Amino acid sequence: MFEELEKTRLASLECFRCSLSETRLNVVFSDGIPNSKLMLIGEAPGMSEDEQGKPFVGRAGMLLDKILESVGFSRQTNIYICNSLKCRPPNNRDPNESEKEACRPFLDAQIDILKPRLIMLCGRVAMNSFIPNAEGITKMRGRWFDGPHGSKMMPVFHPSYLLRNAQRTKGSPKWFMWQDMQEIRREYDKLGG
Ligand code: URA
Repeated sequence: MFEELEKTRLASLECFRCSLSETRLNVVFSDGIPNSKLMLIGEAPGMSEDEQGKPFVGRAGMLLDKILESVGFSRQTNIYICNSLKCRPPNNRDPNESEKEACRPFLDAQIDILKPRLIMLCGRVAMNSFIPNAEGITKMRGRWFDGPHGSKMMPVFHPSYLLRNAQRTKGSPKWFMWQDMQEIRREYDKLGG
């Protein structure tokens, strides 16, 4: 399993399928524990991720770590983290269709090799990669959908969105995120071992 994953990672380092390869500093493949039951898929690397070659290490990443830790998940112990795109779009613009298409085989390989049981789709871009004709993330978040290899996928808010919406009152995005994290933790615990 790890050999195949490593082959995929090495291939991504030499990828020139789209023009993001011309501006990237680093390919951002993944972080965390590969044989975890839980995978998180984000959007694309930002500036800090591009500089460090690791997903979710900037401001949004720091918030993400706190959110994960609030229900006992961490990249050191029980979650695998990656993005829909492995290279940074300049100025953090939305990835375009051809970039998403070019990068998709890497994401599919990560899922096919690791076969996570639960997948968190973090934000609109990740959600739209797996749920055709999805409504807005506000409507879709918190619901389970069937994913590849019998997995269950849940769209959740992206931490960047939560950074822009700081309130924690009932019905706020942060409050919904807390509900979703507890549901994901419950489902994770049901899987046992
Ligand atoms: N946002 C993402 O979606 N992914 C990252 O790695 C960082 C910020």
